This record gives sequence, structure tokens and C-alpha cells, in this order.
Amino acid sequence: MKIIYDEVLLRDPNQPEFHQAVEEVLTSLSPVIQEHPGYLPAVRAMIEAERIIQFRVPWYDDKGKLQVNRGFRIQMNGAIGPYKGGLRFHPSVNQSILKFLAFEQVFKNSLTGLPMGGGKGGSDFNPKGKTDGEVMRFCQAFMMELWRHIGANLDVPAGDIGVGGREIGYLFGMYKKLANEFTGILTGKGPSYGGSLIRPEATGYGLVYFAKEMLATKDKSFEGAVCSVSGSGNVAQFAAEKVLHLGGKVVTMSDSSGWIHDPLGINKEKLEWIMDLKNNRRGRISEYVGQFEGSTYTKSEPEPAFNGLWGVKVDVALPCATQNEVNEQEAKLLADNGVIAVAEGANMPCTPEAVAIFHEHGILFAPGKASNAGGVATSGLEMSQNSLRLAWSSEEVDEKLHKIMINIHKNAYETAEKYGMPGNYVAGANIAGFLKVAEAMTAQGLI
Ligand code: NDP
Repeated sequence: MKIIYDEVLLRDPNQPEFHQAVEEVLTSLSPVIQEHPGYLPAVRAMIEAERIIQFRVPWYDDKGKLQVNRGFRIQMNGAIGPYKGGLRFHPSVNQSILKFLAFEQVFKNSLTGLPMGGGKGGSDFNPKGKTDGEVMRFCQAFMMELWRHIGANLDVPAGDIGVGGREIGYLFGMYKKLANEFTGILTGKGPSYGGSLIRPEATGYGLVYFAKEMLATKDKSFEGAVCSVSGSGNVAQFAAEKVLHLGGKVVTMSDSSGWIHDPLGINKEKLEWIMDLKNNRRGRISEYVGQFEGSTYTKSEPEPAFNGLWGVKVDVALPCATQNEVNEQEAKLLADNGVIAVAEGANMPCTPEAVAIFHEHGILFAPGKASNAGGVATSGLEMSQNSLRLAWSSEEVDEKLHKIMINIHKNAYETAEKYGMPGNYVAGANIAGFLKVAEAMTAQGLI
């Protein structure tokens, strides 16, 4: 494994996020390779993307000035199904970040039990502060190149940071025009044109369904549990909503400028206010304190510091903003304050040092590739509905999502036990996700 990791470092020395994701997986896989040495070649192949597409995205802003962004699609692994994974529009987007996300996606998609390979894409375009017209022109320009590389049986992108319903709509419209066909080419679509009900809620709801299963292994539940949530975007909003449904109390949320603490709890009414603020792009989370008495706002230091959001005493912590937002020091604060469970809503929000602290202290820890898989699982359900030309009800989709999350939990839990690491969901998820992909790759001749 060390040789394989060194190869990654040598080939792409400037990709720290990708190194971090690969190192974590390779560490988990050692016992599997001892049992199945025949899968070693699959590991070597897996760390190299099947295809990386990088392209120019020229578009005109409202002043008629040419802007040029960079677009990407990483088609990481298609052994068990069409490439599947989101598009991220954020100024920090680069190959390292997208490769880490695409790599994680391979294992995550495998864990859902659905036939989906792994991919990821996006652009360094920043939708913040842009008008609707500018976002539309950018999305159209982005799709003008991407469309030739994707397809309902080839690669089906979805949303991620900076890509929500509005962007998916513009991207879908342009694809349809260029390809001259109406097909399930993107997920996260609006319900009027092929989107699945519950897809917007799915990642946040799925996260809490997973955490509920994890808590149950220690005879605990969300009833009366105090929870911290970071972020205030798609994942954070619906994670908070599901915690409320299950009788828990959410006391924090954040955006990239800072975080709010409401010891009285962010109830349904307050959460609806946050959803309106963020989803209609009306303002920043700091405005919460002017609306709701007893709450405080703390400005963040340059990212990824949260200035103490993780210092708030809680039973359950749900990081739902971005990668590496919980560091070692913050993990210690959570541990000292007696946190019972930490479940990742975002992708890789906890640094490896933070994860080590959780394991040392016997804190239940759910890695994003297992606990946030509900989003892509429901995207898989959207693909099925598109192929069937049918639409399932909210209840049907939610029930399927819930079952999938229970199965992912069971699979990760039991796999960790089988390989001698009981309670280690990181190892359990990595190994369970890996085995299916490695078997498929090996059967297909590792091409
Ligand atoms: P959104 O864009 O809807 O929300 C992201 C939230 O995180 C916003 O509140 C944003 O603040 C904050 N944020 C973004 N970047 C930073 C940063 N660098 N520092 C601090 N805060 C930041 O994205 P999603 O909710 O969709 O995604 C959140 C995470 O969940 C990502 O890691 C994503 O990959 C992961 N995920 C998402 C899935 C989905 O279905 N959407 C599925 C699986 C994983 P601001 O408002 O200021 O931008």
C-alpha cells in the first residue's frame, strides 16, 4: 500500500486533498488485501481516473465583458455503472479537490447498492454576487462543452456546492437543446421536468437516518439530543429539519462568513426563515441575530476556521459545509464536551487528525461517504424514475431512502466487525464500497 501511495504523491505532488482521500482508503484496505491479494491490481488501477476532461468556459457578464473560467469533469470509475457525481461551482475548485471528491464518490456510490460509477466535476466559477442572467449564460457555456462527454448511460452529473435547482435547470435546458433529446442526463432536476421528489431533502435526511442507526447501537436517539450543524445550504437545512422531526434540538448553523448560536434552538419557524434567506439569496446568516432574540453571531476567521462552532457543547455534531472544516483542536473540543456522535454531511469535513481523536475517545463517527450517500442514492432513484418514465410519491421515495440508509449503516457496521475493527465506520465503509468495485473491475479485466 505504501508503494501505491508513494506513486500517487510522485505523480501528482500538488494535490493534497486527493492524497488525503487516497491515504485514508489505502489505510483501511490493508486487511482486505491480506485476505484477497488478487485485488491489489484493482487498487493500483483505482487511484488513476479513467478520464479527466478540462475545458475553457468563456461567457459574457452583464457589462458585455468576456469572462473565462475553467471547467472539469473527472470520470473516475465506471466499473459498476455510469459515472455519477455532482458539479461544484466555487472559486476553490481545482483538479485536486475534484479528484478527492470523485474518488470518494466511487466508494459512496458502491455502498448505496445501486449501479452507479463515480465521477465529479465543476468549475472555479463563483455564482455568489452574479445575476440570474450571468449564472444562466455561464451554465449554458459550461454545458456547451460538457454535453459531448455525458449521457444517461455514460455519465450523469448532479448538484453540489454552488449548483442547486436553478443551475441544474439552466444546464438541463442547454443539454436538451444541444442533444436534441429529452433524457435523464442530470439529477436534482425540478419536479416539473423529471426531478424526483425528496431529492433536495435526501442528503440531509439520509445523514440523520444514518446517525439515528449509529446512535441506536449505543441505545441513544435524537429525542432530546442537542445538535450542532455547520453550513446553511442544501445539506445543512434538511439535516436540521430531520433532527427537528426526530425530537432533537439544533443550536448552530453557519455560512462561509460566520456562525450563529441559538441556545433556545433553531425551531421550525426559524429554520424556514433561514431557508428563505439562503435559498432566495436574500442575505447572510449573520442577519439571524437581528431576527431571533437570545442568539449570537461570530464572524469566521479565514476559512476553514469556524471560531468555535465546534466548541459548543452538544450530543451530536453534523458538519455539513465543506472539506476540512473540523480540525484536531476542534475535535478535542467536541470530545471534551462529551459529544456522543459526529456524522459527516459534507464530504471529508473532518481532517484525519480529527477522525483519530474521535476514534481514540470512542465517539461514534460516520464518514461522509456512508452518511451523506442518501443524496446520490436518491439521484439513482431519480434515474430509475426517468428510465421508467414514472414519478414516485414523496412517501415512496423517502421510504426507499430510509431503507437504503439503514442498509448502508448495516453494511459498514458489519464489515468493520468482520475485518476486526468493530465500530470503525471509516474502515467498514471503505472496505464494503471497495469490494464490489474491485470485484467488478477484476471481472472486466482491469481495463
Ligand atoms: P451548498 O452550496 O448548498 O451549501 C454549502 C454551505 O457551506 C453554505 O452555507 C456555504 O456558505 C458553506 N460553505 C461553502 N464553502 C465554505 C467554506 N469554504 N468555508 C465555510 N463555509 C463554506 O452546498 P451543499 O449543501 O450541497 O453541500 C455541502 C457539502 O455537502 C459539500 O461538501 C458537498 O460536497 C456535500 N454533499 C452534498 C450533497 C448534495 O446532495 N447537495 C451530496 C453529498 C455531499 P455560503 O452560503 O457562504 O456559501
